[in-house]
Amino acid sequence: MADDSQKISLIMALRRQGIHDPNVLGAMERVPRDLFVPEAFQDHAYDNNALPIDCGQTISQPYIVALMTQALDLNDRCKVLEIGTGSGYQAAILSHLSRRVYTIERYRTLHAQAQERFHTLGLTNVTAMVGDGTKGWPDQAPFDRIIVTAAAPDIPENLIQQLKIGGKLVIPVDNGPDVQELVTISRHDEGVERRDLIPVRFVPLVEGVAKEL
Ligand code: SAH
Repeated sequence: MADDSQKISLIMALRRQGIHDPNVLGAMERVPRDLFVPEAFQDHAYDNNALPIDCGQTISQPYIVALMTQALDLNDRCKVLEIGTGSGYQAAILSHLSRRVYTIERYRTLHAQAQERFHTLGLTNVTAMVGDGTKGWPDQAPFDRIIVTAAAPDIPENLIQQLKIGGKLVIPVDNGPDVQELVTISRHDEGVERRDLIPVRFVPLVEGVAKEL
């Protein structure tokens, strides 16, 4: 179990890195990252690093979680879609800053673990499912915000179609071997506007539900 000083150091590091939205910093302070990190990495739960989780996936670096959340520009009326539940950490952060969060994961094991964590934390506004996030969640569309936490070769047209006019999509997009650009897409009446944030490294977005657990 991490002590509070580790968490406070992390919040201070995020501020220095340009996370200025008090609501985002508040959510990062509220969600216990140690609950989302495997037993073997408990001592590193509040390090500002990505860590391995089951199924060969990763829980993102806290700075990247905070940056993507800040870029989404959330409010408490937002209906948000996340592709790539993973540990559930990003979804837990989103749940404190939006009305409702829908999250999709292609591995059953990760989905089940994340569900249990949402339950433990009493996060009743998160709905999770096993599925192929590249298709979005047509039954629940349109969304005010969409966040993709796995790297896509391109911006999936499906997801733009499921975004409201005035909505925002944050997604890492391939930009050469092993490197992606974190991109914000704003959907307007006339089309979309793209803004590139920083280079990042994510696990790939893979089509289809995983055959293995
Ligand atoms: N947001 C997560 C980060 C997980 S890493 C967290 O906070 O921990 C990205 C996740 O995306 C992985 O769990 C991976 O299995 C999942 N993923 C990749 N392609 C997917 C797809 N097509 N549909 C749903 N999930 C996908």
